[in-house]
Amino acid sequence: MRWKIEDNPEQAAFRAEVVAWLWEALPDGWAKAVETGDDEAFDHTKTSSKWDFMSWMATIGKSGYAAPLWPKEYGGLSGQPWMQPIIREELARYRLPTFGINLLGVGLAAPTIIEHGSDAQKERYLAKILTGEEIWCQLFSEPGSGSDLASLSTRAVADGDEWVVNGQKVWTTLAQFAHYGMLLARTNPDVPKHEGLTYFILDMHAPGVEVRPLKQMTGSSEFNEVFFNDVRIPDSARVGAVGDGWRCARTTLMNERTTLAGISLDPVSIFGGTRKDPWTTFVDSIPNRQDPIIRQRIAQFYIEQEVKEITAFRANSARMRGQQPGPEGAVNKVFNAEFNQRRSAFAMNAAGIGSVAWDKGSHLAESRATTFLRARANTIEGGTSEVLRNQIAERILGLSRDVEVDKGSSWADTRRN
Ligand SMILES: Cc1cc2nc3c(=O)[nH]c(=O)nc-3n(C[C@H](O)[C@H](O)[C@H](O)COP(=O)(O)OP(=O)(O)OC[C@H]3O[C@@H](n4cnc5c(N)ncnc54)[C@H](O)[C@@H]3O)c2cc1C
Repeated sequence: MRWKIEDNPEQAAFRAEVVAWLWEALPDGWAKAVETGDDEAFDHTKTSSKWDFMSWMATIGKSGYAAPLWPKEYGGLSGQPWMQPIIREELARYRLPTFGINLLGVGLAAPTIIEHGSDAQKERYLAKILTGEEIWCQLFSEPGSGSDLASLSTRAVADGDEWVVNGQKVWTTLAQFAHYGMLLARTNPDVPKHEGLTYFILDMHAPGVEVRPLKQMTGSSEFNEVFFNDVRIPDSARVGAVGDGWRCARTTLMNERTTLAGISLDPVSIFGGTRKDPWTTFVDSIPNRQDPIIRQRIAQFYIEQEVKEITAFRANSARMRGQQPGPEGAVNKVFNAEFNQRRSAFAMNAAGIGSVAWDKGSHLAESRATTFLRARANTIEGGTSEVLRNQIAERILGLSRDVEVDKGSSWADTRRN
């Protein structure tokens, strides 16, 4: 960790507590191998202990360290904002996932339930989100509504103490594995678009929910189309008041941005258990790295990577001092997304023909191509770079607001695609 936050005594004590817990919770030999830099011993421990990602999620999920800011009674530590960066630093140091597979549950659904949900909902859902027992997805975007999310068309109509839902979502990450979804639906078409929305918890296995995986150009199916055909949701699964869905959705979206700004979508921070850091993987993937021009470019990427880390460091150190981070989240989300695209395109160009054809089983060539293709999504997911630039212009720089052609009209009267 190059950018190290200076701990005060309370923070140093907490860090020591986290490290002591890791030594206890990890398979025998893991922590020692990391501390001594013994990669052979690390690989041996990982293989012989049959360490796996899902059981690690359950272990950390029960410890409180997976969500230090959550209330103790729901599986957190009722802790301080500075605890989060300390835990992430130590997880990364011990080659553990800094984000779990239930990223949308922990990062998006849970904070929304904590802020707007009923006590019964908190009791029912939060602990199982943390341990990864129940995976969540986010049912917001639709074929006609992405950036302009509040224009969405999926309808929920009241029927006794139930709601009947019809419509379609798209881009739904992890829907094929999810137990529950955060569903934003229109309950009143006759008021302005932001006012007619309601937020629900949807059981993804309820009759009438159909999930169709979409195959991406990387070959995997990260996201899905989801169709609702007369799906019934009990009113007890409503989060917040009827018509107050936009306020709840903003909590989800705000948390999504912070989660994605901090995340690096590389396998090391997602899955852990590997000895290589993403930077080494990038440099290794460039075959002609001794070429003087290529070396210059690699050095330039390194400089930009440092700038990015310093910006993330500023946000973290603000949290460590108990302050709210400033515009770093939006700035880093835009920068990170475009940096990933430029860097992965450079690696493909530098590798020449090796980027389009390679020996079977060449992990470096495969990862270079997959990283390049996957990076296309970075400037779209979690809010597009154009929309984030609008927000930076309006909220940070105080420039004039984006045009709102349908301001004041009811949703039913607005033009939609
Ligand atoms: C990998 C991935 C995973 C995703 N996962 C999920 C998920 O799990 N759940 C979910 O609900 N959604 C998910 N999304 C959807 C994502 O939130 C939307 O794709 C995104 O909000 C953009 O919406 P859109 O695709 O409809 O594009 P549009 O909103 O139609 O935008 C099209 C283009 O117009 C530009 N544009 C739009 N409005 C403006 C404006 N006011 N000013 C300037 N330019 C503008 C955009 O920047 C973009 O270039 C995911 C997307 C990706 C790529």
